[in-house]
Amino acid sequence: MEEKFVKEITPRSEDFAQWYVDVILKGELADYSPVRGCMVIRPYGYAIWENIQKLLDKRFKDTGHKNAYFPVFIPESLLKKEAEHVEGFAPEVAWVTHGGQEELAERIAVRPTSETIICSMYAKWIKSYRDLPVLINQWCNVVRWEKSTKPFLRTAEFLWQEGHTAHRTEEDAEEETLRMLEVYRDFVESELSIPVIKGRKSENEKFAGALRTYTIEALMSDGRALQAGTSHNLGQHFSKVFDIQFLDQDGQLKYVWQTSWGVSTRLIGAIIMTHGDDRGLKLPPKIAPIQVIIVPIFGQKKDLVLNKAKEIYELLKNEFRVELDDRDEYTPGWKFNEWEMKGVPIRLEIGPKDIENKQVVVVRRDTFEKNIVAEENAVEYIKNLLNDIQKNMFEQAQKFREENTRVALNFEELKNIIENYRGFVKAMWCGNGDCEKHIKEQTGATLRCIPFEQEKLSDKCVVCGKEAQKMVYFAKSY
Ligand code: AMP
Ligand code: ZN
Repeated sequence: MEEKFVKEITPRSEDFAQWYVDVILKGELADYSPVRGCMVIRPYGYAIWENIQKLLDKRFKDTGHKNAYFPVFIPESLLKKEAEHVEGFAPEVAWVTHGGQEELAERIAVRPTSETIICSMYAKWIKSYRDLPVLINQWCNVVRWEKSTKPFLRTAEFLWQEGHTAHRTEEDAEEETLRMLEVYRDFVESELSIPVIKGRKSENEKFAGALRTYTIEALMSDGRALQAGTSHNLGQHFSKVFDIQFLDQDGQLKYVWQTSWGVSTRLIGAIIMTHGDDRGLKLPPKIAPIQVIIVPIFGQKKDLVLNKAKEIYELLKNEFRVELDDRDEYTPGWKFNEWEMKGVPIRLEIGPKDIENKQVVVVRRDTFEKNIVAEENAVEYIKNLLNDIQKNMFEQAQKFREENTRVALNFEELKNIIENYRGFVKAMWCGNGDCEKHIKEQTGATLRCIPFEQEKLSDKCVVCGKEAQKMVYFAKSY
């Protein structure tokens, strides 16, 4: 029976997509819903999102932002104001056409993102340079009628946060855009243990309506890239059409400079695909809903063991997110498998012999290494071990990314790498969107970003052979 339980998860090597779905469904993170492209986030998955929210929200507050809430509905006339924005989002907008039986005089969009409705308010609120900067964030849901969907990674409705700021000068806006990109990088690397590449998106890939889009790009363990977060410098594109003007110190009326930035429940997909293995999920301790699971091994002494397990639970509960699995109906082996599948970083076993020796058995999920620890040292030991796991998971992911980042000096090499290995391909690029499109058409790979950290691999564009401007990353992506 225990054997069978483990085998229910499709091995990654056999079918990665099925493995991903198995982990989500059997780990009870989410479930499919009766609505096309929409998922139900179950309590265990939602607890991960809550931890993400808590940690990110603190970083937003620390950088001076405040939370607010804007309506889920956007009148069509507002959405249409910025031409590039509406063109980019039009194919994905869900429309409300009726209120009850009555047809609306004007269609209302369910927000795919909130720049337009927020700008309409900023036009009211911002009058003077003294009103700037405006630093607002919103935690909410958005709807994008995506053609193909995948739980967490791309859903028709998803949860996210969207920061929307307004500034006096172009430099202030650029600084904010990069500041928030760095907040994302630091958060994703230190709390989610996912290494990312910071860079700029090409014109083809930038946000509809932005002046410049910056991104953090991660590599999943099947060799596909994932955009993990974006920060946009909107320039004055929106302030000009929404007429967000302020009286500056010099007595002149000027348009504000704006930014917007967001990360979504996609990050949970990134965690699953970066760290998971054939036994299931592997959660970084900092966002794991349960950091330590206590599994008592009753033997012939159920009362004794259960009491001790409760004592240890009490000892740990002020320090860690800990649970005691005292269910009678499952064997310890079954429980081990279940908690491994759910990605709990540390398992603590306790049986009659351990009680005699005043010890506990500690097993880490990332390496399965097992250690016997004196009961009195347990808190300290676990504290260190959680840090160790967090760090080790980052290093493992980083090693994988390094092993799966290759250089292509000409188109054949690039095509060959994408076809045979996937992963990131570093290549030189002339800056022409046609060369980028050629790669997409011929190989399915997209230009993930123009990294801040540049290298000179050669003088020539990997496609056209003309003078190269930048080193860029290509990859197949989600
Ligand atoms: P954007 O507003 O397009 O820059 O997206 C903001 C963030 O949401 C990015 O980190 C995207 O990766 C993420 N995102 C975009 N579309 C979806 C979707 N359909 N489901 C989940 N996350 C998404
Ligand atoms: Zn070229």
